[in-house]
Amino acid sequence: MENCIFCKIIAGEIPSPRLYEDENMIVIRDIEPKAKLHYLCIPKTHFPLLSADEEKVEAVKRCFAKIPTLVETLGLGDGYRVVINQGENGGQAVAHLHIHLLGGEKLKDF
Ligand code: AMP
Ligand code: ZN
Repeated sequence: MENCIFCKIIAGEIPSPRLYEDENMIVIRDIEPKAKLHYLCIPKTHFPLLSADEEKVEAVKRCFAKIPTLVETLGLGDGYRVVINQGENGGQAVAHLHIHLLGGEKLKDF
């Protein structure tokens, strides 16, 4: 998708080291970490919001099936927080669905 920063990262047009990559997703470090460790799991297909559409559900499902297998490697073994911001009120800045993984320290309650 044109003008989507995450599509550009996925396409390699914007450099961002990939901590994990497969045919469905990439995992990168968030450029402005909100916790000691802050990663983004980004499906390779462009869609902004969670959806009941089967293909999009599948893309999200694949991310959630993979995340637990990456936890130790990412240093999140002591626990972590999963966040998906949705739309304006949810504070979503990038309109390409992504899953935040936050940890590496005791996170504050919200
Ligand atoms: P959200 O507010 O849920 O849309 O989250 C977007 C996240 O993308 C923010 O936490 C940003 O810090 C992060 N971000 C924006 N640009 C980049 C980039 N080039 N590389 C890594 N993370 C980025
Ligand atoms: Zn995109």
